[in-house]
Amino acid sequence: MFFQPDKENISTDKLKAIQEENLIRTIELAGRSPYYRKLFKQYGLKPDIRDIKDIEKFPFTTKEDLRKSYPAGMVAVPFEKLVRMHASSGTTGKSTLVFHTKNDIENWATLVARGLYAAGVRSTDIFQNMMSYGLFTGGLGLHYGAEKLGALVIPAGSGNTQKQIELLLDLRTTVIHITPSYLFYLGHVIEEEEKISLSKFSLRIAIVGAEPHSEETRRKLEKIFRIKVFNCYGLSEMNGPGVAFECEYQNGLHLWEDHYYAEIIDPETGKVLPEGREGELVLTTLQREGMPVIRYRTRDITKFIKGRCPCGRTHRKIARIKGRTDDMFIVKGVNIFPSQIEAVLMQIPEVDKNYRIIIDRYEGLDNLTVEVEVKKGFFDGELRHLKAIQDKLIDTLKDNILVTPVVKLVEPGSLPSSTGKAQRVIDKRRL
Ligand code: ADP
Ligand code: ZN
Repeated sequence: MFFQPDKENISTDKLKAIQEENLIRTIELAGRSPYYRKLFKQYGLKPDIRDIKDIEKFPFTTKEDLRKSYPAGMVAVPFEKLVRMHASSGTTGKSTLVFHTKNDIENWATLVARGLYAAGVRSTDIFQNMMSYGLFTGGLGLHYGAEKLGALVIPAGSGNTQKQIELLLDLRTTVIHITPSYLFYLGHVIEEEEKISLSKFSLRIAIVGAEPHSEETRRKLEKIFRIKVFNCYGLSEMNGPGVAFECEYQNGLHLWEDHYYAEIIDPETGKVLPEGREGELVLTTLQREGMPVIRYRTRDITKFIKGRCPCGRTHRKIARIKGRTDDMFIVKGVNIFPSQIEAVLMQIPEVDKNYRIIIDRYEGLDNLTVEVEVKKGFFDGELRHLKAIQDKLIDTLKDNILVTPVVKLVEPGSLPSSTGKAQRVIDKRRL
């Protein structure tokens, strides 16, 4: 059993007191790192926190700041206290490094175990971790958390899909950790290539994360595999996965507020937004020793979900991540997140498991093309059926994103698949 009611169900006042106490310690500790020492001196900043809101006096830390202090400018403890280093995936440029003490690793595992428990994972489960091991945090992060929970952990890593299927069947795996795009691909290989019935598997839960995905995608995955799919959010700068986790109610992700102080800001002005407004998530570590990070701009777009969760946990929930500020693209003057397109595609029953967005510019005009895999049966049927699907997609997309796209229908399995973070958008205007 891994449930910490004394920490997860605590009153809002107590939680705030814990945050304030830990924030003071964090700022003191951060001041020992070369990066923050210089910054605090430059701005004349002191850890005189009387209220948690005093954090707003501190400047933001950005991915660029981490890159500038590469490799270890934000480390706040002597090197002999460090036991592990991880790196970000480098989705948007050079990877950033994060260093951990023994306590940091212990706390990270605890937060992951808490989240897994909230999603219904138990010590009796067989947990196949299908995220890549190594510098990326998705592998080892969930590995230690699931072990701490007491599950039997299979460190499968990502890729090698045949082997994954063999393990899933032979070990009767009940829980997997995987990216949503790899889960779609896994479904494709099992059903279309191996022709194995999904009823042969013992799976009951998939923990998915590492990339934005829509509610429609979750529902579709749940339907294909007949399992429950839970969203897990994190980023290497804040340890990795396990910052926020969905509970059994699947309505937003509880963000572990005794370990992270969360703000939502307007990405343009940097102003903190009132609760419930959508903006960029900013996080401060509250209990990390090796590398405390203050007001980190995640670039992830979300909002707080108001109200108490029926599960009893008092830590506030955030909505699933809509995308990163840098994922957003502008076509014909309209701001679009890939997740908006994905949400439309996954509602259409004829759509299969994969898609790709291509943007280019021709004679000064933007063109948005959406390539969509359509279920096999439709390619063998009459052409007018395909035309009808195409028209439906164009109309529904136009209603939702306000731009008329070109829609190309392709056969299942023909678009590039991913066993890690998927690359969904190709913006040829930037090439
Ligand atoms: P990088 O920033 O280079 O991709 P990370 O491996 O640290 O490196 O990835 C963290 C990022 O992955 C997050 O900031 C977020 O954009 C994305 N991410 C992680 N989990 C989720 C999730 N559950 N939903 C949406 N996006 C996610
Ligand atoms: Zn809950």
